[in-house]
Amino acid sequence: MSPATGAVTDALRELHSRYAGVGEGELADYIPELALADPGAFGLALISMDGHRYSTGDAGAPFTIQSVSKPFVYALALSLLGLDEVSRWVNAEPSGEAFNAISLERSTGRPANAMVNAGAIVTTALIPDTPVAPRFGRILDCLSRFAGRRLDVDEEVYASEAATGDRNRALAYLIRSTGPLPVDPVAAVETYFRQCSVRVTALDLAAMAATLAHGGVNPLTGDRVVAEPVAAQVLAVMATCGMYDASGDWLLRVGLPAKSGVSGGLIAAGPARFGLAAYSPLLDRTGTSVRGHLAIGMLSERLGLHLMYNP
Ligand code: GLU
Repeated sequence: MSPATGAVTDALRELHSRYAGVGEGELADYIPELALADPGAFGLALISMDGHRYSTGDAGAPFTIQSVSKPFVYALALSLLGLDEVSRWVNAEPSGEAFNAISLERSTGRPANAMVNAGAIVTTALIPDTPVAPRFGRILDCLSRFAGRRLDVDEEVYASEAATGDRNRALAYLIRSTGPLPVDPVAAVETYFRQCSVRVTALDLAAMAATLAHGGVNPLTGDRVVAEPVAAQVLAVMATCGMYDASGDWLLRVGLPAKSGVSGGLIAAGPARFGLAAYSPLLDRTGTSVRGHLAIGMLSERLGLHLMYNP
Protein backbone atom coordinates (compact mmCIF):
# COMPACT_ATOMS: atom_id res chain seq x y z
CA MET A 1 0.00 0.00 0.00
CA SER A 2 1.69 3.19 -1.01
CA PRO A 3 -0.45 5.76 0.87
CA ALA A 4 0.78 6.09 4.47
CA THR A 5 -1.00 3.76 6.90
CA GLY A 6 -2.25 6.64 9.03
CA ALA A 7 -3.79 8.18 5.93
CA VAL A 8 -5.72 4.94 5.26
CA THR A 9 -7.16 4.77 8.78
CA ASP A 10 -8.07 8.45 8.72
CA ALA A 11 -9.66 8.15 5.28
CA LEU A 12 -11.78 5.10 6.27
CA ARG A 13 -13.00 6.83 9.44
CA GLU A 14 -13.75 10.06 7.65
CA LEU A 15 -15.65 8.33 4.84
CA HIS A 16 -17.62 6.30 7.35
CA SER A 17 -18.81 9.37 9.22
CA ARG A 18 -19.42 11.27 5.98
CA TYR A 19 -21.74 8.61 4.47
CA ALA A 20 -23.25 6.90 7.56
CA GLY A 21 -26.19 9.32 7.44
CA VAL A 22 -27.07 8.62 3.79
CA GLY A 23 -30.50 6.99 3.91
CA GLU A 24 -31.13 6.48 0.20
CA GLY A 25 -31.64 3.05 -1.32
CA GLU A 26 -33.74 0.00 -0.55
CA LEU A 27 -33.15 -3.31 1.20
CA ALA A 28 -33.32 -6.30 -1.17
CA ASP A 29 -36.63 -8.01 -0.47
CA TYR A 30 -37.00 -10.56 -3.28
CA ILE A 31 -35.18 -12.90 -0.86
CA PRO A 32 -37.48 -12.19 2.13
CA GLU A 33 -34.83 -12.84 4.80
CA LEU A 34 -32.59 -10.08 3.35
CA ALA A 35 -35.28 -7.49 4.09
CA LEU A 36 -34.64 -8.09 7.83
CA ALA A 37 -31.14 -6.53 7.60
CA ASP A 38 -30.34 -3.45 9.69
CA PRO A 39 -30.56 -0.55 7.19
CA GLY A 40 -28.16 1.46 9.36
CA ALA A 41 -25.32 -1.10 9.26
CA PHE A 42 -22.19 0.29 7.62
CA GLY A 43 -18.67 -1.11 7.74
CA LEU A 44 -15.49 -0.54 5.77
CA ALA A 45 -12.34 -2.69 5.70
CA LEU A 46 -9.04 -2.64 3.84
CA ILE A 47 -6.25 -5.23 3.92
CA SER A 48 -2.82 -4.50 2.51
CA MET A 49 -0.39 -6.92 0.88
CA ASP A 50 1.60 -7.24 4.13
CA GLY A 51 -1.56 -8.37 5.92
CA HIS A 52 -2.27 -5.11 7.73
CA ARG A 53 -6.00 -4.81 8.55
CA TYR A 54 -7.75 -1.44 8.64
CA SER A 55 -11.44 -1.18 9.47
CA THR A 56 -14.16 1.04 10.77
CA GLY A 57 -17.86 0.82 11.67
CA ASP A 58 -19.63 -2.54 11.33
CA ALA A 59 -16.70 -4.30 9.64
CA GLY A 60 -17.22 -7.35 11.89
CA ALA A 61 -20.99 -7.60 11.35
CA PRO A 62 -22.13 -10.85 9.66
CA PHE A 63 -24.17 -10.92 6.44
CA THR A 64 -24.49 -13.34 3.53
CA ILE A 65 -22.00 -13.14 0.70
CA GLN A 66 -24.56 -13.38 -2.16
CA SER A 67 -23.05 -12.43 -5.52
CA VAL A 68 -19.69 -11.55 -4.05
CA SER A 69 -19.20 -15.34 -4.04
CA LYS A 70 -19.24 -15.40 -7.86
CA PRO A 71 -15.64 -14.31 -8.60
CA PHE A 72 -14.29 -16.77 -6.02
CA VAL A 73 -16.23 -19.76 -7.34
CA TYR A 74 -15.14 -18.69 -10.84
CA ALA A 75 -11.55 -18.78 -9.49
CA LEU A 76 -12.15 -22.32 -8.23
CA ALA A 77 -13.54 -23.42 -11.61
CA LEU A 78 -10.56 -21.84 -13.42
CA SER A 79 -8.16 -23.57 -11.02
CA LEU A 80 -9.74 -26.97 -11.54
CA LEU A 81 -10.49 -26.80 -15.27
CA GLY A 82 -8.40 -24.00 -16.80
CA LEU A 83 -9.50 -20.89 -18.69
CA ASP A 84 -10.07 -22.60 -22.05
CA GLU A 85 -12.41 -25.25 -20.68
CA VAL A 86 -14.36 -22.82 -18.46
CA SER A 87 -14.68 -20.39 -21.39
CA ARG A 88 -16.35 -23.08 -23.49
CA TRP A 89 -19.31 -22.88 -21.11
CA VAL A 90 -19.30 -19.31 -19.82
CA ASN A 91 -18.09 -16.29 -21.76
CA ALA A 92 -16.29 -13.19 -20.42
CA GLU A 93 -18.19 -10.36 -22.13
CA PRO A 94 -19.99 -7.60 -20.21
CA SER A 95 -23.71 -8.17 -20.59
CA GLY A 96 -24.78 -4.59 -19.83
CA GLU A 97 -27.73 -6.22 -18.13
CA ALA A 98 -29.08 -6.72 -14.63
CA PHE A 99 -27.83 -9.49 -12.34
CA ASN A 100 -30.77 -11.79 -13.04
CA ALA A 101 -31.05 -11.14 -16.80
CA ILE A 102 -31.51 -13.95 -19.30
CA SER A 103 -28.14 -13.17 -20.86
CA LEU A 104 -27.35 -16.23 -22.94
CA GLU A 105 -25.59 -16.04 -26.32
CA ARG A 106 -28.10 -16.71 -29.06
CA SER A 107 -25.92 -19.14 -31.01
CA THR A 108 -24.46 -21.24 -28.16
CA GLY A 109 -26.67 -20.66 -25.11
CA ARG A 110 -23.50 -19.72 -23.22
CA PRO A 111 -23.98 -17.10 -20.44
CA ALA A 112 -22.34 -13.71 -21.06
CA ASN A 113 -20.03 -13.90 -18.04
CA ALA A 114 -19.58 -15.52 -14.64
CA MET A 115 -20.64 -12.42 -12.70
CA VAL A 116 -24.33 -12.49 -13.73
CA ASN A 117 -26.57 -15.19 -12.24
CA ALA A 118 -26.80 -17.29 -15.42
CA GLY A 119 -23.00 -17.49 -15.66
CA ALA A 120 -22.58 -18.09 -11.94
CA ILE A 121 -25.01 -21.01 -12.04
CA VAL A 122 -22.92 -22.55 -14.84
CA THR A 123 -19.70 -21.88 -12.93
CA THR A 124 -21.10 -23.62 -9.85
CA ALA A 125 -22.27 -26.54 -12.01
CA LEU A 126 -18.73 -26.92 -13.39
CA ILE A 127 -17.28 -27.59 -9.92
CA PRO A 128 -16.92 -31.39 -9.74
CA ASP A 129 -19.30 -33.18 -7.38
CA THR A 130 -18.03 -36.53 -6.09
CA PRO A 131 -18.86 -38.57 -2.97
CA VAL A 132 -15.36 -37.91 -1.59
CA ALA A 133 -15.40 -34.20 -2.44
CA PRO A 134 -18.97 -32.87 -2.76
CA ARG A 135 -19.44 -29.69 -4.80
CA PHE A 136 -20.56 -27.49 -1.93
CA GLY A 137 -17.77 -28.74 0.34
CA ARG A 138 -15.21 -27.71 -2.28
CA ILE A 139 -16.84 -24.29 -2.62
CA LEU A 140 -17.02 -23.65 1.13
CA ASP A 141 -13.38 -24.73 1.56
CA CYS A 142 -12.31 -22.41 -1.22
CA LEU A 143 -14.28 -19.38 0.08
CA SER A 144 -12.87 -20.06 3.57
CA ARG A 145 -9.29 -20.15 2.31
CA PHE A 146 -9.83 -16.84 0.51
CA ALA A 147 -11.19 -15.37 3.77
CA GLY A 148 -8.47 -16.94 5.92
CA ARG A 149 -10.91 -18.51 8.38
CA ARG A 150 -13.60 -21.21 8.40
CA LEU A 151 -16.89 -19.77 7.08
CA ASP A 152 -20.38 -21.21 7.58
CA VAL A 153 -23.87 -20.95 6.08
CA ASP A 154 -26.74 -18.75 7.26
CA GLU A 155 -29.44 -21.43 7.13
CA GLU A 156 -32.33 -18.92 7.40
CA VAL A 157 -31.16 -16.98 4.35
CA TYR A 158 -30.54 -20.24 2.49
CA ALA A 159 -34.07 -21.47 3.23
CA SER A 160 -35.51 -18.09 2.23
CA GLU A 161 -33.67 -18.05 -1.12
CA ALA A 162 -34.42 -21.71 -1.82
CA ALA A 163 -38.12 -21.02 -1.20
CA THR A 164 -38.26 -18.04 -3.57
CA GLY A 165 -35.50 -18.73 -6.14
CA ASP A 166 -37.70 -19.65 -9.08
CA ARG A 167 -36.18 -17.10 -11.44
CA ASN A 168 -32.74 -18.66 -10.94
CA ARG A 169 -34.26 -22.13 -11.35
CA ALA A 170 -35.87 -20.92 -14.57
CA LEU A 171 -32.46 -19.67 -15.76
CA ALA A 172 -30.99 -23.11 -15.00
CA TYR A 173 -33.72 -24.86 -17.00
CA LEU A 174 -33.16 -22.45 -19.88
CA ILE A 175 -29.41 -23.09 -19.84
CA ARG A 176 -30.06 -26.84 -19.84
CA SER A 177 -32.45 -26.52 -22.77
CA THR A 178 -30.17 -24.39 -24.98
CA GLY A 179 -26.64 -25.57 -24.38
CA PRO A 180 -24.62 -28.80 -24.53
CA LEU A 181 -23.28 -28.25 -20.97
CA PRO A 182 -21.84 -31.59 -19.74
CA VAL A 183 -23.17 -31.04 -16.20
CA ASP A 184 -26.69 -30.37 -14.90
CA PRO A 185 -27.29 -26.68 -14.06
CA VAL A 186 -30.72 -27.48 -12.59
CA ALA A 187 -29.19 -29.66 -9.86
CA ALA A 188 -26.41 -27.11 -9.32
CA VAL A 189 -28.73 -24.16 -8.72
CA GLU A 190 -29.49 -25.43 -5.20
CA THR A 191 -25.74 -25.39 -4.48
CA TYR A 192 -25.62 -21.87 -5.93
CA PHE A 193 -28.25 -20.78 -3.36
CA ARG A 194 -26.14 -22.30 -0.58
CA GLN A 195 -22.99 -20.61 -1.86
CA CYS A 196 -24.83 -17.25 -1.80
CA SER A 197 -25.84 -17.90 1.84
CA VAL A 198 -22.29 -18.23 3.18
CA ARG A 199 -21.86 -15.84 6.10
CA VAL A 200 -19.06 -13.26 5.97
CA THR A 201 -18.06 -9.87 7.38
CA ALA A 202 -16.58 -6.86 5.58
CA LEU A 203 -13.19 -7.88 7.03
CA ASP A 204 -13.58 -11.36 5.48
CA LEU A 205 -14.46 -9.81 2.11
CA ALA A 206 -11.45 -7.47 2.31
CA ALA A 207 -9.23 -10.54 2.91
CA MET A 208 -10.80 -12.31 -0.06
CA ALA A 209 -10.26 -9.30 -2.33
CA ALA A 210 -6.73 -8.88 -0.97
CA THR A 211 -5.97 -12.51 -1.87
CA LEU A 212 -6.91 -11.81 -5.49
CA ALA A 213 -4.87 -8.59 -5.42
CA HIS A 214 -1.93 -10.53 -3.96
CA GLY A 215 -1.71 -12.94 -6.90
CA GLY A 216 -3.76 -15.66 -5.20
CA VAL A 217 -1.88 -15.77 -1.86
CA ASN A 218 -3.88 -14.84 1.23
CA PRO A 219 -1.85 -12.03 2.86
CA LEU A 220 -3.15 -12.96 6.34
CA THR A 221 -2.39 -16.70 6.27
CA GLY A 222 0.25 -17.03 3.53
CA ASP A 223 -1.92 -19.75 1.94
CA ARG A 224 -1.67 -19.96 -1.86
CA VAL A 225 -5.37 -20.28 -2.64
CA VAL A 226 -5.16 -20.01 -6.47
CA ALA A 227 -2.36 -19.63 -8.99
CA GLU A 228 -1.27 -16.16 -10.04
CA PRO A 229 -2.75 -16.32 -13.57
CA VAL A 230 -6.12 -17.37 -12.13
CA ALA A 231 -6.16 -14.36 -9.76
CA ALA A 232 -5.39 -12.08 -12.73
CA GLN A 233 -8.13 -13.68 -14.87
CA VAL A 234 -10.71 -13.20 -12.12
CA LEU A 235 -9.72 -9.56 -11.58
CA ALA A 236 -10.02 -8.94 -15.33
CA VAL A 237 -13.59 -10.28 -15.40
CA MET A 238 -14.46 -8.31 -12.25
CA ALA A 239 -13.16 -5.15 -13.94
CA THR A 240 -15.36 -5.57 -17.01
CA CYS A 241 -18.42 -7.35 -15.59
CA GLY A 242 -18.41 -7.16 -11.77
CA MET A 243 -20.90 -4.32 -11.38
CA TYR A 244 -23.58 -5.65 -13.77
CA ASP A 245 -25.08 -2.88 -15.92
CA ALA A 246 -23.03 -0.26 -14.04
CA SER A 247 -19.66 -1.92 -14.80
CA GLY A 248 -18.50 0.59 -17.42
CA ASP A 249 -19.38 3.62 -15.33
CA TRP A 250 -17.71 2.07 -12.26
CA LEU A 251 -14.45 1.36 -14.14
CA LEU A 252 -14.54 4.85 -15.58
CA ARG A 253 -15.06 6.65 -12.29
CA VAL A 254 -13.63 4.34 -9.59
CA GLY A 255 -11.13 2.41 -11.72
CA LEU A 256 -10.89 -0.83 -9.71
CA PRO A 257 -12.01 -4.45 -10.32
CA ALA A 258 -15.06 -4.89 -8.08
CA LYS A 259 -18.04 -7.07 -7.26
CA SER A 260 -21.29 -6.19 -5.54
CA GLY A 261 -23.95 -8.37 -3.92
CA VAL A 262 -27.60 -7.84 -2.99
CA SER A 263 -27.04 -8.21 0.75
CA GLY A 264 -24.98 -5.00 0.62
CA GLY A 265 -21.43 -6.37 0.37
CA LEU A 266 -19.06 -4.75 -2.11
CA ILE A 267 -15.42 -5.59 -2.81
CA ALA A 268 -12.75 -3.79 -4.81
CA ALA A 269 -9.17 -4.86 -5.41
CA GLY A 270 -6.04 -2.83 -6.14
CA PRO A 271 -3.69 -5.34 -7.82
CA ALA A 272 -0.48 -5.74 -5.78
CA ARG A 273 -1.77 -3.10 -3.36
CA PHE A 274 -4.90 -3.90 -1.32
CA GLY A 275 -8.28 -5.56 -0.94
CA LEU A 276 -11.16 -3.35 0.06
CA ALA A 277 -14.70 -4.12 1.21
CA ALA A 278 -17.81 -2.27 2.28
CA TYR A 279 -20.99 -3.49 3.89
CA SER A 280 -24.20 -1.47 3.92
CA PRO A 281 -27.45 -3.13 2.86
CA LEU A 282 -29.35 -0.18 1.29
CA LEU A 283 -29.06 -0.76 -2.47
CA ASP A 284 -29.32 1.39 -5.59
CA ARG A 285 -31.29 0.32 -8.68
CA THR A 286 -28.43 -1.85 -9.96
CA GLY A 287 -28.32 -3.82 -6.70
CA THR A 288 -25.17 -2.15 -5.34
CA SER A 289 -24.72 -0.79 -1.83
CA VAL A 290 -25.33 2.97 -1.92
CA ARG A 291 -22.98 3.86 0.93
CA GLY A 292 -20.44 1.27 -0.22
CA HIS A 293 -20.36 2.78 -3.69
CA LEU A 294 -19.98 6.32 -2.31
CA ALA A 295 -17.25 5.35 0.15
CA ILE A 296 -15.15 3.23 -2.23
CA GLY A 297 -15.56 5.81 -5.00
CA MET A 298 -14.39 8.61 -2.74
CA LEU A 299 -11.52 6.55 -1.32
CA SER A 300 -10.31 5.83 -4.84
CA GLU A 301 -10.39 9.52 -5.65
CA ARG A 302 -8.74 10.57 -2.36
CA LEU A 303 -5.90 8.07 -2.46
CA GLY A 304 -5.45 8.04 -6.26
CA LEU A 305 -6.38 4.35 -6.59
CA HIS A 306 -7.81 4.45 -10.16
CA LEU A 307 -5.86 1.81 -12.12
CA MET A 308 -5.51 4.02 -15.20
CA TYR A 309 -4.20 6.91 -13.13
CA ASN A 310 -0.41 7.03 -13.20
CA PRO A 311 0.92 9.98 -11.23
N1 GLU B 1 -28.45 -14.91 -4.48
C1 GLU B 1 -28.78 -13.77 -5.28
C2 GLU B 1 -29.52 -14.18 -6.52
O1 GLU B 1 -29.08 -15.07 -7.19
C3 GLU B 1 -27.51 -13.03 -5.62
C4 GLU B 1 -27.74 -11.82 -6.47
C5 GLU B 1 -26.77 -10.69 -6.17
O2 GLU B 1 -26.18 -10.66 -5.09
O3 GLU B 1 -26.63 -9.80 -7.03
O4 GLU B 1 -30.56 -13.70 -6.83
